[in-house]
Amino acid sequence: MKKVILHKGREKSLLRKHPWIFSGAIDSIDDNIELGETVEILSSDKKFFAVGAYSPHSQIRIRVWSFNHIEINKVFFTEKISSAVTFRKSIIDEKKYNAYRIVNSESDGLPGLIVDKYNNILVCQFISAGAEKWKQTIVEILVDQLEPTAIYERSDADVRQKEGLKSNKGMLYGKIDSGEVIIQEDNLSYIVNIFTGHKTGFYLDQRENRKIISEYSKGKNVLNCFSYTGSFGIAALVNDAEHVLNIDSSEEALNLSTRNFQLNKINADKFTNLKADVFTELRKQKSESKKYDLIILDPPKFVEGKNSLNKASRGYKDINMLAMQLLNDDGLLFTFSCSGLMTPELFNKIIADAASDAGVNLSIIDRLWQSGDHRVTTSFPESFYLKGLLVKKG
Ligand code: SAH
Repeated sequence: MKKVILHKGREKSLLRKHPWIFSGAIDSIDDNIELGETVEILSSDKKFFAVGAYSPHSQIRIRVWSFNHIEINKVFFTEKISSAVTFRKSIIDEKKYNAYRIVNSESDGLPGLIVDKYNNILVCQFISAGAEKWKQTIVEILVDQLEPTAIYERSDADVRQKEGLKSNKGMLYGKIDSGEVIIQEDNLSYIVNIFTGHKTGFYLDQRENRKIISEYSKGKNVLNCFSYTGSFGIAALVNDAEHVLNIDSSEEALNLSTRNFQLNKINADKFTNLKADVFTELRKQKSESKKYDLIILDPPKFVEGKNSLNKASRGYKDINMLAMQLLNDDGLLFTFSCSGLMTPELFNKIIADAASDAGVNLSIIDRLWQSGDHRVTTSFPESFYLKGLLVKKG
């Protein structure tokens, strides 16, 4: 195995089992290491620390496969995937849910690999040089362990560029006639397009929050902003919300949400789809003194990098302020941020500032986050990205 030697003192994060080695931590490396090749990582005094995948184009130069001195081979991946599957089986009731995340990258000890299950189809993302190198082996193991009818690749996330990898989409195994799969979440069904849907097709990370929203929705007049597939609105209506207004700027998203409402046999008079910009529409509705009992704000990732954090914060504050003003006196607001760079502390502060500027009193009822299959291990807090608050006016 080729070797990489770290600068003195730069093994600290490895001691805490954090799997990233940045380019600045490296003192010297052997010649001619290939993209994704497994290397041995040594401290400045040549003590073994870990084995990992080398990524010459990324700031994250090595992602650790193991802190043990082992060979990285098919056996290694078989064990990792098997333990990822066992973890999901321990937290997901498969009789009720047939769509969930099976592998969540670093938190499952497989940096750069995402595997999502949509009924009997798997969708994978290979977003690191190491995961890309082992693609074929990983596909073979997934076929053996999970017996899917098909495996589709959605390696079209921007992060691939940082690893020196091209965007890639296509079949890896089996055959499917169309990109559409119907998934089951308890008593609800959703159409997922694995070819074109966001991320690997659907916001599986909001599963628990759909359940929570549903529980609070009975008899409520609901405003679902950034509605996409309409999933929050459907969850609200199956628990007898009075009406749901979905707002999204994408015609395609609204068409999909209409199909999802029909699939769940929801009467057309129970929901309205509105194609509009949320920022503009909420302002308009405020000037018309519209009111809602329950508002959902689940915007796209506003923060793309550290430089955009301030601008994004203003955007979050703006829509949250407007939503608070559109709430009835004892109304509920479910507000989310899926930007990893937005810390829960900063998000809480933005909501508090928005309440103060809107002149409303808010009580925090619940803190929300990504469902547990989007595993977060304590040694890798970076995998925590989706946060939300349930607040009540008054
Ligand atoms: N809540 C959704 C996911 C939201 S994804 C779900 O559970 O499925 C973000 C959505 O916001 C996308 O559908 C996108 O089309 C929409 N969007 C982005 N910017 C917008 C804007 N300014 N106004 C309205 N919709 C917007």
